Amino acid sequence: MTDINCVKRKIAIIGGGASGLFASYFSALSGNEVTLFEKNEKLGKKIYITGKGRCNLSNDCDEKEYLNNVVTNSKFMYSAIYNFPPRSVKEFFESNGLKLKTERGKRLFPVSDKASDVTKTLEKAINKLGVNVLLNTEVKEITVKDGRVCGLKTADKNYLFDSVIVCTGGLSYPSTGSTGDGYAFARSFGHSIVALKPALSGIELLGADYLALQGISLKNVSICAVLNGKTLYSDFGEMLFTHFGISGPIVLSCSSVINKSDYTNVTISIDLKPALDRETLDARLLRELSANKDKTVFNAVRSMLPKELANLVLKRAKVDNDKSCSVVTREDRKSIIEVLKNLQFGVKGFRPIDEAIVTSGGVSVSEVNPKTMESKLVKGLFFAGEVLDVDCFTGGFNMQTAFSTGAQAGRNA
Ligand SMILES: Cc1cc2nc3c(=O)[nH]c(=O)nc-3n(C[C@H](O)[C@H](O)[C@H](O)COP(=O)(O)OP(=O)(O)OC[C@H]3O[C@@H](n4cnc5c(N)ncnc54)[C@H](O)[C@@H]3O)c2cc1C
Repeated sequence: MTDINCVKRKIAIIGGGASGLFASYFSALSGNEVTLFEKNEKLGKKIYITGKGRCNLSNDCDEKEYLNNVVTNSKFMYSAIYNFPPRSVKEFFESNGLKLKTERGKRLFPVSDKASDVTKTLEKAINKLGVNVLLNTEVKEITVKDGRVCGLKTADKNYLFDSVIVCTGGLSYPSTGSTGDGYAFARSFGHSIVALKPALSGIELLGADYLALQGISLKNVSICAVLNGKTLYSDFGEMLFTHFGISGPIVLSCSSVINKSDYTNVTISIDLKPALDRETLDARLLRELSANKDKTVFNAVRSMLPKELANLVLKRAKVDNDKSCSVVTREDRKSIIEVLKNLQFGVKGFRPIDEAIVTSGGVSVSEVNPKTMESKLVKGLFFAGEVLDVDCFTGGFNMQTAFSTGAQAGRNA
């Protein structure tokens, strides 16, 4: 006679990215018979391109700091992050032989600087636990009977499973396999999908002024995104001008916050000299003007900024580039300083979602149990990773989300 307690539960994981690999590992560790379905020819295709090929796999911070870096639905992440915090990710990789290092902003990377080592470590770990990996195998449908998952279908086969964990990712960089299949699965069972938008994305600007600035990279500037007099986001750091507008670390973070607002009415204000207040900046400008007495005001401003930016500042300040430094008035200085402290641009939109670092929106977290990652609508159906309506700032927090939700689903499926 078979002891019912000894019968292994059969679990399917759809998607072999960061969340799917973790879900597979923890599900197998809990004693289940696990099959991982991946439509690509290899696992972790997106992992290979993370962190510019180095994979910023987590952040060496505590749970609270992680939660402060979740842009959307941090409350939902509470249970998953306390059950599987960044230190557990660190322990997991180090105990599986991958040496890690901490860089600026507590960002965690493999010592080898190779994202492929992260995938290799995960692959080895799931192989050790006997996870059955099916590559080049796209799941077409999840089957449900009497409100409970009973299996799934690929192009040529039907499978029976007790539970299915959907780890199909978002919509960004579709060449890595993240083509939004999970949203269709969820929708077919009545799940609500919160509007899908690019997050951690470049911001397209209105007008044409930015075009002359393309290629200029600015360190130590601050930006502020304002809507109807209210500051939605402000930050200090690096940014750059591009052929579409602006990008770089502080701009990417800004996009994740303003993408849910009436962004076409948002003004981005750049403070080109945040370390200097207006008075100090005026003293600096006066010094430049007297040092360039026989030259034009352009020469004076140019000594403080890249050429094209100096041109734009003077244009916006309505001061003629060729005006001699010796005749620049107090009013001229005031206008120049105003632009240096508050260089404004209107927002046209964001780069297309397939170029975004992450997808904002996804399976509504109100329909998913945060303690188990199980659907509240269908028994045995679980979600993990970017398919959920959770997105974070840069710094390793998105991978951490994939790992924590993957572990949470894997342990509970
Ligand atoms: C350029 C870039 C750089 C990034 N850098 C970082 C970084 O350094 N740090 C960080 O924290 N985050 C980074 N991110 C974000 C991070 O990579 C993702 O949030 C994370 O990988 C999401 O993992 P996931 O498992 O949820 O989804 P994915 O990694 O997208 O995995 C989903 C998998 O499911 C498979 N799949 C989809 N549909 C099916 C189907 N029907 N059948 C079978 N398989 C299917 C796909 O092929 C894919 O392999 C970066 C993202 C990009 C695009």
